[in-house]
Amino acid sequence: MVILGGGVAAGYAAKEFVSQNGGKGQLAIVTAEQVPPYERPPLSKDFLAGGKKPDDILISDPSFYREHGITLFRGFSVSKVDFARRRLHGPSGRMIGFEKLLITTGSAVRRLNVPGADLPWIFYLRQLKDSQHIHAHIKRGKRAVVIGSGFIGMEVAAVLTNEGMNTTMVFPGDRVWEHVFTPPVSAFFEKQFADHGIMLMKDETVVGFEDKRNGRLVVLGSGVRMPVDLVVAGIGVTPALGLFRGSPLTHDQDGIRVNEYLETNVDSVWAAGDIANYPDAIFRRRLRIEHWDNAVEQGRVAMRNMMDKFQPFVHVPYFFSDEFDLSYEYWGNAEGHDHVVYRGVMKDKQLSVWWLKQGVLCATLLMNRPDEERRYAPRWILRRAKLNPAQLKTAKSLRSLDRTFGQE
Ligand SMILES: Cc1cc2nc3c(=O)[nH]c(=O)nc-3n(C[C@H](O)[C@H](O)[C@H](O)COP(=O)(O)OP(=O)(O)OC[C@H]3O[C@@H](n4cnc5c(N)ncnc54)[C@H](O)[C@@H]3O)c2cc1C
Repeated sequence: MVILGGGVAAGYAAKEFVSQNGGKGQLAIVTAEQVPPYERPPLSKDFLAGGKKPDDILISDPSFYREHGITLFRGFSVSKVDFARRRLHGPSGRMIGFEKLLITTGSAVRRLNVPGADLPWIFYLRQLKDSQHIHAHIKRGKRAVVIGSGFIGMEVAAVLTNEGMNTTMVFPGDRVWEHVFTPPVSAFFEKQFADHGIMLMKDETVVGFEDKRNGRLVVLGSGVRMPVDLVVAGIGVTPALGLFRGSPLTHDQDGIRVNEYLETNVDSVWAAGDIANYPDAIFRRRLRIEHWDNAVEQGRVAMRNMMDKFQPFVHVPYFFSDEFDLSYEYWGNAEGHDHVVYRGVMKDKQLSVWWLKQGVLCATLLMNRPDEERRYAPRWILRRAKLNPAQLKTAKSLRSLDRTFGQE
């Protein structure tokens, strides 16, 4: 068995292989990176701040792979997958054969396509080495511009600010992370960011960069020219599909299509993590999720299925994010919601947001809320619980609203 890609899904698939008593010499991981599989979330958090070393964020120690007879091909960038002959082609004509293949190539960062975008002080963040490069350029008192207001942009802006940089966020919408947050939640985060001294330039696009004798500039669509020392662009990712164009794998720009067992249309080939477009049993439509927990769980389930366990992937989507002293979690998928209920006291930094679609809970965001909300939110989303918005808003304890016992 071979895992193509050495990120989060691969790291947890390998752990699952061992816990299912996979035999020595039966699994190989092929990764373009020089590092064994590692956790990516710290790259925009404490690792970026310099608080962790590469060894601290490895999913498993290198000795784990040695002891369990798992071969790690590092620095092996696969240039072609020959599904007919069942081979991966790599550098210098090297080839690796497979009987069963798990594809976990993850995502590739979107890049800016404007004049000056290749200047060396413009950074993207996907890999460990990107985080190290950005860290090496952090300088107290200097100016940073972060492009994008999704969770990566927000986390990076928070770290750069904590490290003493004068940070500005530039983004096209009129509020932060409008794709996920509701207007009051965006307003809450904007206030926290402003209180930490971060400047927000909304409704702006970057049209170019200049590096002149008298300094570096970010040029905005409005004509503003901002002096800067360091730029980090967090403008989203796309599934890393380049290898599969023209292959027999069923895929489109939204990932590789898999069935509920995470199998692709090609015999004995599975896909997991950011790359996999799967039929979600809870929301009853196809989803592709670019978050850590999804990669962990899909890596595990795909590996079990490669080991003939036949387990469908049924899982409530989940992610977390940390900015300054704020940590929040999010379950579900709010697309198509028609009602939002808030609990908690935002000004005390404790809030929960409950998205409903025709009365059925479809997503929840929690920050500093009682444990019972953490327990009920994923359970209710999984069970497609119907909730009364007025009761949800005012209930002292959620226990009284729980009607999901025994419900499918
Ligand atoms: C900076 C950062 C912070 C994040 N923070 C959070 C967070 O706080 N919360 C959260 O829920 N999610 C977070 N995520 C998202 C989460 O880390 C990803 O969803 C997860 O890593 C996806 O796992 P994956 O295995 O699908 O892909 P990846 O982890 O990206 O791994 C893909 C692997 O495939 C390899 N590869 C690709 N192409 C080839 C090739 N041709 N040949 C060989 N190898 C190849 C890559 O080198 C890489 O090793 C963060 C992501 C980043 C980048």
